[in-house]
Amino acid sequence: MRKSFDEVLKYTEYAIKTISQKSMTEDEKEFFINETRHNFDNHINPGFLEYRKSAGSDDMAMEWMANGDTFVDLHGNTYIDCLGGFGAFNCGHRHPKVIETVTNQLAKQPLSSAELIDANRSLLARILADVTPGDLQYTFFTSSGTEAVECGLKMATLATGRHYYVAFKGDFHGKTMGSLSLTSKEHFRGPFLPLLQGVRHAPFGDLDFLKKLIDCMEFTGELPAAIIYEPIQGEGGVQIPPDDFIPGIREICDKYDIMMIADEVQAGMGRTGYLFATDYSKVTPDILCLGKSISGSVVPLSACVCTERAFRGMFPDPLLHSTTTGGNPLATAAGIAAFHVILSEDLCGKAKKSGAIFMEGLEKLHQKYPKLLTAYRGRGLMIAMEFCDGDLGYEVVFEAFNRKLLLSGSLINAKTIRIEPPLNITEEHVRKALEILDESMEIVYNKHFK
Ligand SMILES: *Cc1c(COP(=O)(O)O)cnc(C)c1O
Repeated sequence: MRKSFDEVLKYTEYAIKTISQKSMTEDEKEFFINETRHNFDNHINPGFLEYRKSAGSDDMAMEWMANGDTFVDLHGNTYIDCLGGFGAFNCGHRHPKVIETVTNQLAKQPLSSAELIDANRSLLARILADVTPGDLQYTFFTSSGTEAVECGLKMATLATGRHYYVAFKGDFHGKTMGSLSLTSKEHFRGPFLPLLQGVRHAPFGDLDFLKKLIDCMEFTGELPAAIIYEPIQGEGGVQIPPDDFIPGIREICDKYDIMMIADEVQAGMGRTGYLFATDYSKVTPDILCLGKSISGSVVPLSACVCTERAFRGMFPDPLLHSTTTGGNPLATAAGIAAFHVILSEDLCGKAKKSGAIFMEGLEKLHQKYPKLLTAYRGRGLMIAMEFCDGDLGYEVVFEAFNRKLLLSGSLINAKTIRIEPPLNITEEHVRKALEILDESMEIVYNKHFK
């Protein structure tokens, strides 16, 4: 309901004050928590307080500060972050190099006119051309993962003149109308169907099926503009395809002149122990979508990196596809710093090393609680635990949260719980996380299997 502007002005003053505060008195905390709860209930979505049960409890855990591989709630409890913002915190929270770079840009010009030429976007596009494999060369910058995918779809259609797309069962590509058409789960698609026409989903990892599907699509005159894939499915529950799958997609794309789009919004930027997850397969896509951690874990940024073949449809009119704030000076400064941190601190190597410790620990837990933890898998620090059923997995997450370890499920696969910490998680915290998992599983195991 509309209030007087004076009242609104007072409220902005209160909000600005809380942002500037490093700590609060107990009374201030209570008021602040009640305000937040009230605002979520009335102005964000009351569903959240039910959905995030830990957040809805009287002892509401509210995020307040973050540092490295941990964050602190308003009550001062420190949590080990093994969720890592669903892949957005590869550099960790508030990495000093990223903060420094972003702060320097903030002091000069955070947003540009978007009319003249601005430097940061060009510097980061150059870096992307230099770190990506093969002949990936031109980058269109956006702000969210789903926008990077939308851009990829348009580029593929521009390059090929075709209007069909192939994705895979278990895929997650975002939730705007275009990328939602590629996302696979009925739960998210159902209310919005029919979505983009001419999208086909094939089983993930099944090269023979894919060959037959494309053969049929050629026969019917419906060859796709693109085959889009996640090198490792994230929301699908960290599904790793057979080794021949991604090289096989490359072969099919070459044969039929189809654009190969790698959606590495989650798996990219060092997460799997490789700078880009497709590097593991030693092939180059035509279009590479990056998001989440390309932001240096500080501000939103995403990117659609293309070969010249995939991008040249944009040359005659650079505004054929555009976004006002995508690739702004602040976000691209963060992206530049992100690559500096990932390369100079060997975050790929760290992901491999910490990933190996997790896998060893999970093998022990799997042997100790075989009926509960039925499987585990991963590459680098993109790891999933598979539980006998989704509810028991959630109980483990709940117990772990009470012991100050943050984990989360996945959107497409209810039985899997992910471990995706910052790539610079300390060895001490990896071992502590495994200890907490052990305690949490023991409680759930004893409750249901003894
Ligand atoms: C998270 C994710 C997206 C969507 O990114 P948003 O920033 O949430 O729009 C797309 N693809 C994959 C693989 C993702 O994990």
